[in-house]
Amino acid sequence: MYATSLFCTFCGTEYPLTGLGMCSRCARVGEESALNETLGVRYDVDSLRQHLDRDELARRPAGLWRYAELLPVADPAFRIDLGAGGTRLARLTRLPESDGHKLFVKVEGSNPTGSFKDRPIGIAACVALEHGARGLACLTSGNIGSALAALAARAGVPALVLLLGSAGQAAQGAAVSVEKYVQVSVYGARVATPVGDLGTLYALANRLAADSGWSFIHTFQAYQSEGDKTTAFEICEQLAWQTPAAVFVPTGTGTNLYGLWQGFLLFKELGFIQALPRMFAVQPEGAASLVNAWEQHLEVPAVLEQSRPNVAPPISHRVSGYHAYRAMRESGGGAVAVSNAEMLRALNDLAAYEGIYCEVASAAALAGIRQAITHGLLSADEAQARGVVGILTSNGLKNSLALSSRFPPPPQIEATEQALRTLLE
Ligand SMILES: [Zn+2]
Repeated sequence: MYATSLFCTFCGTEYPLTGLGMCSRCARVGEESALNETLGVRYDVDSLRQHLDRDELARRPAGLWRYAELLPVADPAFRIDLGAGGTRLARLTRLPESDGHKLFVKVEGSNPTGSFKDRPIGIAACVALEHGARGLACLTSGNIGSALAALAARAGVPALVLLLGSAGQAAQGAAVSVEKYVQVSVYGARVATPVGDLGTLYALANRLAADSGWSFIHTFQAYQSEGDKTTAFEICEQLAWQTPAAVFVPTGTGTNLYGLWQGFLLFKELGFIQALPRMFAVQPEGAASLVNAWEQHLEVPAVLEQSRPNVAPPISHRVSGYHAYRAMRESGGGAVAVSNAEMLRALNDLAAYEGIYCEVASAAALAGIRQAITHGLLSADEAQARGVVGILTSNGLKNSLALSSRFPPPPQIEATEQALRTLLE
């Protein structure tokens, strides 16, 4: 294996490749902080350069394990394959903005459980199992739970999913998504809905994991962005080893954005690509800690007093991670906040113009690209020549019920020629 150590993106401390969830010097245990998810995985890049060939890589079957050398799972027996990865990079051609702009979307909703989470959770769960976990558990508003439960089913181990109403608003009593509850349950996981203080629950989880033999997937946080890296690898390959000018990522905790950036960096270090993209975070108005940090030139994003309820619960956290903020800064990218109306319009347009149905939080990617074009955050060269990619993180079927009020029941028609002709006009 080429993974060598964990390291903290903030203070630089190195740790062995264990299930350490947080940097012991930077994390604020028991409270929300941008410094709670600062760990990443380091690789022996010199050895990788000698042993990994770009053209050979390109001939392997699609999916996460195509990049086995670039992932932190040593024993092939623990490289459990659910069929994640290998998703489509679609060029947008009918959307009004596609005229004059080179726009792509990475359609992550076609992953096995319908969201990009099959990548980060798939890798973190394999690492946990390789470390000896006898069961897999998580706290989630839904998509992590589905990814974890499906992986556990495939691996033949039990799963426990503590299902929250919203990633950022559990204590505010937000309702649990029925569709996500059903999906998690179908995979055979035990499901419960926690009430009370989440901080206490996390602390309990950490203590019980030690003596129960179960792994709570948040303690394998450092390995989750490893799965997200594969999205960047695929984008480079799908653009014939060219790099887009910019990548727009709907951002909650920020692990996906950080992971993508790590993927691009690693491919550049290996000499597989020549340029790097600018990384942009897209967040809902009222839950935009990265936008605040960006505008106020903070060294570390501050925790919002509260996140305002909006149509994109999966990306509505009080604070996003420093690791994502650093990726934005290093890449010369930025952060944009989008409204409910902008996200819903983007969702509708992707479906009606391009035939792509994504979750509302995913549509934030297009809403963010539109803002960047309108406000001149992208140059003509970037938007027209090199191209821009939006990450559509999950499938719209994940939460169709949330949109049902916008579509009243369809009209009934008589089985007559006249009635049918009227509809065909
Ligand atoms: Zn640290």
